Amino acid sequence: MTEKVAEKKLTLTDEEWRARLTDEEYNVCRQKGTEPAFSGRYWDTKTAGTYVCAGCGQDLFSSTTKFDSKSGWPSFTQAIDEGRVQNESDVSYGMTRTEVLCSRCDSHLGHVFPDGPAPTGQRYCMNSASLKLKPGE
Ligand code: FE
Repeated sequence: MTEKVAEKKLTLTDEEWRARLTDEEYNVCRQKGTEPAFSGRYWDTKTAGTYVCAGCGQDLFSSTTKFDSKSGWPSFTQAIDEGRVQNESDVSYGMTRTEVLCSRCDSHLGHVFPDGPAPTGQRYCMNSASLKLKPGE
């Protein structure tokens, strides 16, 4: 896999984030909320394109790696490249999980689990509210 350099870091004030995002996007991206399963804009989307960060617009996931995880959240086997996402250990709610953040703006995207399909075995379980689909490609 080719390693591309992630885009330049984006840092905004809380006020600027509130102005930039909808309430739902703000809750997920900046407060690490989770949208209810089967409620988001992309859980069942099969349109070809690139999913970019709702916070900063960085390219994150390709529709070619999206799969039907039956979870009710948009799920991918990998990021466009590893530099676009950052993993953090998350021990909240009595679980040990790996949180996934946008590497450019630190927006919360979701979690990654080691129970995905080939070719990576990973399941990037994302919130629709953290993503925007750019159709085409
Ligand atoms: Fe971002």
